[in-house]
Amino acid sequence: MTTLASIIVSIAEEMRTASERGTVANYIPPLARVDLNRFGMAVVGMDGETHTVGDAEIPFSVQSVSKVFSLSMALNAMGKELWGRVRQEPSGSAFNSIIQLENEHGIPRNPFINAGAIVIADILVSRYGRENAQTKLLEFLRPLVSDPSSIDIDTDVARQERETGFRNMALANYMRTFGNIRNVVEDTLDFYFHQCALTMSCHQLAQVGTYLMTGGRNPRTGEQVMSERNAQTILALMMMCGHYDGSGAFAIRVGLPGKSGVGGGILAIAPGVASIAVWSPGLNAQGNSLLGTRALERLVQHTGWSVFRANPWVANPT
Ligand code: GLU
Repeated sequence: MTTLASIIVSIAEEMRTASERGTVANYIPPLARVDLNRFGMAVVGMDGETHTVGDAEIPFSVQSVSKVFSLSMALNAMGKELWGRVRQEPSGSAFNSIIQLENEHGIPRNPFINAGAIVIADILVSRYGRENAQTKLLEFLRPLVSDPSSIDIDTDVARQERETGFRNMALANYMRTFGNIRNVVEDTLDFYFHQCALTMSCHQLAQVGTYLMTGGRNPRTGEQVMSERNAQTILALMMMCGHYDGSGAFAIRVGLPGKSGVGGGILAIAPGVASIAVWSPGLNAQGNSLLGTRALERLVQHTGWSVFRANPWVANPT
C-alpha cells in the first residue's frame, strides 16, 4: 500500500540521485558554502501527524520564506490599511527589481518581492520598535513548534546581508523618497536582514506553517493567531507571488500556495490538509529551489493535493 511515509521516502530517493541540482546562492559565504547535496522534507497533517525525510532536522537560512511570517504579523497589527502601502498583485519581475517601483510611485507590487517585504518590515519597526520587532517575530513563531528555543536568528548571516545588501538599501531609500518608508532606513533594513537570517529546519518550518493550513489557528494551542480571512489572503498571495517571476510555473506544476527563499527552502500549504516544508539549496534561474520544486510536484502527483484538482481531496494517505 502506498502511504505518505513511503511517498516521501521515494521522493527523497529521487532527489538524492538527481544529477542536475541548481546553483547555491553565493552572495554571502554562509549561503555559498551550504552542501548542494542536502535534501530534506517534512509534512505535518491536520491531526499533527508528521513525516520527515532526509535532512529534515538540519537548520538552514529561511531567507524570504520569512516574508510570510512578517506579513502575518503586519496584517495583525495594521489590518487592511496595509494594502495602501503595498499592493496585492503578481510582479512578473525578479525579487529585487527596482524598475517597477518608479512606475508605481514607490508602492511595491506585493509583500513578497523585496521592496514589499521591506515596507512590511518598516510597518513592524513602527509598531514595535527596532529591537522589539525581532523579539515579537520570534514570539510569533516559537509557540507553533515543538522545540521553541531552537528557532533563532543567525546574526552572522544578518551582518553579511547588511554588508552586501546594496540593492535592498537602494530599494528602501528610493521608497523613502515616496514616503513609503517611515523609519530610519538603516533600522528598517536591519530588522529586514535579521528576519531573512531566521534559521529553521524543514521540520520546524512545516510546524510553523500549520497556522496557514488551519485558517489562522495554532493547532498546538488552539489559539487563533490571525483571522481566517487574513490567512486566506496570505495563501492567495503565496500562490500568485510566492516564487517571484517563477510563480506562474510553480502554480501550474505544484498547485499549492508556496513561498520560497534563496536558502533553498520552500513552505507550501495544502489548506485543511497539510503544511509542507522542503529544502534543497540549489536554485533555478528564478532563484527558487530546483529540487524543492520538483519534490513538491511529485508529492502533489502522488497525493492529489493540488488546490486546482476538480475531484474532492483524495484521502490523506497515512
Ligand atoms: N536576503 C535576501 C535578499 O533580501 C532574500 C532573498 C530571497 O530569499 O529571495 O536579497
